[in-house]
Amino acid sequence: MPPCLRSAADATLSLIRHRHRSMASRVSPPCLFDYYVVVDFEATCEKDARIYPQEVIEFPAVLVHGVTGELLSAFRTYVRPRYHPILSAFCRELTGITQEDVDGGVDLADALVLHDAWLVAAGAARDRVAVVTWGDWDCRTLLDNECALKEIVKPFYFERWVNLRVLFESVFGARRRNLQEAVQEAGLRWDGRAHCGLDDARNTACLLADLMRRGVTISITGMFTVLMAPKEDEVPQPSLQLLAQPLPQMSSHCHCYCGIPIKIDMVMTLGPMQGQYFYICGNWTPEFGAICPFFLWAA
Ligand code: AMP
Ligand code: MG
Ligand code: MG
Repeated sequence: MPPCLRSAADATLSLIRHRHRSMASRVSPPCLFDYYVVVDFEATCEKDARIYPQEVIEFPAVLVHGVTGELLSAFRTYVRPRYHPILSAFCRELTGITQEDVDGGVDLADALVLHDAWLVAAGAARDRVAVVTWGDWDCRTLLDNECALKEIVKPFYFERWVNLRVLFESVFGARRRNLQEAVQEAGLRWDGRAHCGLDDARNTACLLADLMRRGVTISITGMFTVLMAPKEDEVPQPSLQLLAQPLPQMSSHCHCYCGIPIKIDMVMTLGPMQGQYFYICGNWTPEFGAICPFFLWAA
């Protein structure tokens, strides 16, 4: 990372650490990952109009300890958009990002490499981190579409993510609220400028630490699943009980080979099976995967 970006991020982090060190020691949540990487992309945009392709212009990340909830390190690089290199006035106003910022930015592919190097330098093993975002848009839509368009292979840890909104709603109830409102509803003080990617990521990280303190298990909520339809003779034969049940009741009444209720999931990846539901081992977890090989297409 260029020294100027590193120093900006470090200055932000020293403030975060000051604010959160005392609270962090009280955190003892159930821990599925060693670290969380909180990301909040900013992208090209127009007022009241769609822009295609939409491209990342700010790539910030905040590293959070998986046990203590302490905010450990921050990363930011600006990204130069290829298709709409001149930012709209609306975009500059919304995000606070200047034309000079993106002109001096890097390509998305290089931003992903810089981010990956930062993670490694911070001591976070790639297979022990989970990406956290507010909403599904950052990983499911923006990053995935842009990587597909530009034929960029993204690091595998961006293939799954924690949508903090889902976990927040499990505590505070489901209703329309933006990130800033959620932070305030949790009793935290919003710090910084809304729609500045690094400030959004820091505030999301503070919210994550708060949910950990409340005992919420931080688990994967979304992923891209690459699944091939099994050949006819490979499909486990459904039990009579399974065949007798209408679909919505299957997950609570049917058991996998482990003898526990099966789990339902959906194919997210673009392709002929996208949107198809399937059933898998009830012991499946993001960390360890399935225990038994139970698999059944739901339709
Ligand atoms: P956020 O993380 O909420 O700051 O938003 C991420 C991106 O979504 C922004 O960088 C914009 O590209 C887009 N966006 C957010 N709010 C708006 C808005 N009111 N109008 C158009 N685009 C928006
Ligand atoms: Mg955002
Ligand atoms: Mg943002």
